[in-house]
Amino acid sequence: MNIITPVHACCAHHFEPDHLDATVSSLFTASGVDGVYGRSGAYESAVEALAALISRHRPDGAEVYRFPPVMPRASLEKQGYLQSFPNLIGAVSTLTGSEREISRSAAKHEAGGDWTEDLKPSDLVLAPAACYPIYPIAAARGIVPADGYVFDVAADCFRHEPSRQVDRFQSFRMREYVRIGTPAQIQAFRDPWVERAKGIADAIGLSYSVDVANDPFFGRVGAMMANQQREDALKFELLVPVRSAESPTACMSFNYHKEHFGEVWGLHNDAGELMHTGCVAFGMDRLAVALFVTHGAKISDWPASVRAALNL
Ligand code: 5GP
Ligand code: ZN
Repeated sequence: MNIITPVHACCAHHFEPDHLDATVSSLFTASGVDGVYGRSGAYESAVEALAALISRHRPDGAEVYRFPPVMPRASLEKQGYLQSFPNLIGAVSTLTGSEREISRSAAKHEAGGDWTEDLKPSDLVLAPAACYPIYPIAAARGIVPADGYVFDVAADCFRHEPSRQVDRFQSFRMREYVRIGTPAQIQAFRDPWVERAKGIADAIGLSYSVDVANDPFFGRVGAMMANQQREDALKFELLVPVRSAESPTACMSFNYHKEHFGEVWGLHNDAGELMHTGCVAFGMDRLAVALFVTHGAKISDWPASVRAALNL
């Protein structure tokens, strides 16, 4: 079944729409909602192998945290997400009240009415990035130690951007290494990670480019923020041709948030300096899709070197 529409065809063999379609169809099962799919066993084994490969590159001393797909709404509000990406938010809402009230709301559906009009926002939102929950955790510990922090985090993330494109899911897995420290510590973390990430992409046979990038900040003010982010080279992406060679897909990102999260959460070192933060994000689903589109639908047909790097 043709569930995802490739938007572009070009001459390279593996970008042929038929091929892209067949490959992708074998990995995913439609849910009825664009950008939300059931995943095959082969696909999941690639995701797990990628996670293990990334773990083998875990920075020394990194503390591991795994987060649920939801996070406190108050945290998202506090860090300014409503100003930057309000269009991407997914919030959890629930039926509350007495048993009678809840029954009445639920019964509306059977009666052909709209039960959702009784939904009330809860104190949870869907996590849009894996690193957001770690900053308040670090802040709650008090003064940041002189060496700063390195964290290894992951979460199922949600962004409300329904699409039939193979590289845009509404629900996707994100893994990140996060650094909290002085500007020099963040730089010493991020720069080598760009090279390390290229090494990972080489090992798994993906072609790529690395380019300066911007987040899709919302609205007119957002466009200015995006320009500034590019000008200051705060975000880089490792781009892999998935849909087409002309519009390669961001599979990893290397982010320097400067003092944003430090300011929001009150992260300081012993000298009273405001802490800076940065993160390296791996889009697990995009990397897995890139593997299958590049090497084929059957893992047993992948190049031996790629399978060796992934222990597959
Ligand atoms: P960022 O915070 O840089 O936008 O996202 C980090 C990484 O998550 C991206 O580099 C990408 O690999 C992955 N990602 C972001 N948005 C999507 C999406 O819509 N679908 C999928 N599958 N992955 C995404
Ligand atoms: Zn992050």
